Parts: sequence; structure tokens; C-alpha cells
Amino acid sequence: MKNIVISDDYNAVDLKPSALLKRYIELTQQDVREMLADPKKLKEGGCPACGNKDKKAAFTKFSLSYQECANCRTLFVSPRPDDKTLNEYYQKSAARTFWRDELSKATDKKRKEKIVKPRFQWILESTREHFPAAKTWVDVNTTQFSYVDAMADADIFTKKILLNPYLRVEQNKYPKIEIIQQPWWENTMSSAVDVMTLFEVVDHTSDVEGLVASASKMLKKNGLCFITAILSSGFDIQVLWDKADNLYPPDRLNCLTVEGFKALFAKHGFECLEFSTPGILDIEIVAKAYEQNPQLPLARFVRDLVESKDEQTKHTFQEFLQSACMSSYGRILIRKKG
Ligand SMILES: [Zn+2]
Repeated sequence: MKNIVISDDYNAVDLKPSALLKRYIELTQQDVREMLADPKKLKEGGCPACGNKDKKAAFTKFSLSYQECANCRTLFVSPRPDDKTLNEYYQKSAARTFWRDELSKATDKKRKEKIVKPRFQWILESTREHFPAAKTWVDVNTTQFSYVDAMADADIFTKKILLNPYLRVEQNKYPKIEIIQQPWWENTMSSAVDVMTLFEVVDHTSDVEGLVASASKMLKKNGLCFITAILSSGFDIQVLWDKADNLYPPDRLNCLTVEGFKALFAKHGFECLEFSTPGILDIEIVAKAYEQNPQLPLARFVRDLVESKDEQTKHTFQEFLQSACMSSYGRILIRKKG
């Protein structure tokens, strides 16, 4: 299985300016309380990755409880809202409106250059390698407008579909893309898709099993599915845990481990062609959290790393995290078995 290591020079602030991000998180907290946290509407569940029922309470965020799976150590909210409720949240909440109208616009240019471009290069190169005859591509629930532009330009695919109930995209602006404003669970495509993309979708899906089963149904035999996700087995999440700024519901309703993802794919008949963690921000995220809160209880080794080591050492350590699949940003390519 492939595992790539990358080197780049952007930082977290480039992608998420802290004042806007702070506002987004405040709004999310309010909206979660109002729209998602009603105990009557929440349902208890087992691990969304490996299905194990044994779990232990990890911590609470925005009045929802995170559990840790006793088997694969995936972090997940339980009890949790269902996908219908989440769909409503992603369409109507003030936080998501702010994200769409303010935060994503402020970061769009940097994001396009640093994240979207390399991601599309990955899709195109891997498709040429593993499924050169691919023509149909379905993207499920992207939250990024710049993906839609990049998708429109990807000419190796003749049929491109956005399956997305909440991204407001004008069909006449994108004549090369078919826009289906429908949630994935209502779609009836069967063995019709060569390539599917799920960018950070597993992270905020309630019924992960249902999503992966639905991907398997939509894909043809040997069809490819590209996934990105934040991983709880990654360095900064392991170190910061409940203090991790980027770990909150519903955007990270699930934070799977490498083992959790592998169990999920095996159960649904997928073969894993690539599992990489090409994140470059783990150490910077920990260093920033420590700078903002010097009382943070860091292990001595980690404190020494972020406080005393030079940039070259930190860089080498980050590369080690990538090569050992221990960064918190995961990119994964799976293939439906023939
Ligand atoms: Zn599990």
C-alpha cells in the first residue's frame, strides 16, 4: 500500500485566519446547542468505524459527548443526531452561513493553491494509474466552492456529478457538471460511478456504515473512492485530545483512527490502495495551543519538542509522522473489489 510524504511551507493561519475561525466556532457552539443537542433527538450508537459496542467516555464538547472505541480507538459523538437533522443544520445554521459567506471566501485563494490543486493532482494521477478508463465522477457533499471549479476543469471525466443538498451552486455557471441537490441516502445510482470523492465527509456523517455501503453500491466494480479525513490517531489530536481546537461537533462528529478506517473498508469490500497522512501542521498546531495556553499539560518530550527544538528538527519530526501514518490529516484511496 502506498504512503506518501510531502513537504510544504504554508501554515494553519494561512488557511484559517484566527479571528474568523474563532467567530465560526462560537456560532457553531450556539447552533449545536439550539439545533443538535436536544437529548430526545439523539441516538446512542457503537463505533462508526469497526462497529464495536464497547466504548468509554472521552470528553464533552458543545454539550455533546465524545466516546472512544475500546477496539480501534476511534473518537465519536454518541448519543448523536441523525443525518437528516445534520442535513438541516448544514443547510440552515448561522455557523454554516458564516462559513460559506465569510470564512471560505477569505481563505479561498490560499486553499485553492495549497489544498485543492494538490488534491486534484492526486485524483487525476491515481485515476490514470488505477482506472484509466474512468469517465464518471461523483463528488458527495463537498463544502468548498473551489472544488467545483477544479472539478469543472477535470477533462478526463466526461460525466461529473455533484451530489450535494447544501452547497449553493448555480447550475448555469457549471454546464459541465450535473448538480443533484439530494442527500446521498436518497440517491438510487447503482454500479454507475467510476470515481467518487468524499472530502472530509466521513467526519460529519452520522451513519458512516450507510455512507460507505452507499458508496459501494454507487461504484462500479474496481471503482475508486478518494477520501480525506482528520484522524484521531494523528499526533496533534493524540497530544491535545479534548483541547484540540479543530475537534468539535458536528464538523468532527467522527474522528477515526487509521485502524478504524481499515476495519470499515474491509467490512464493505474495499481494498485500500493508499493510506497516507501528508499533514504538515501537527507540530505547529500543538506549539500554537501551548503558546496560547502555557498551562496545557503536555508530556515533557512534547513540550521540549515544541519549545526548544529548531525548525529543522521539527520539520524532520513532522516528516517522520507522515511516513509512520501518524499525522492527523489523512488521505486515502480505496477500490471496490471486483
Ligand atoms: Zn472502533
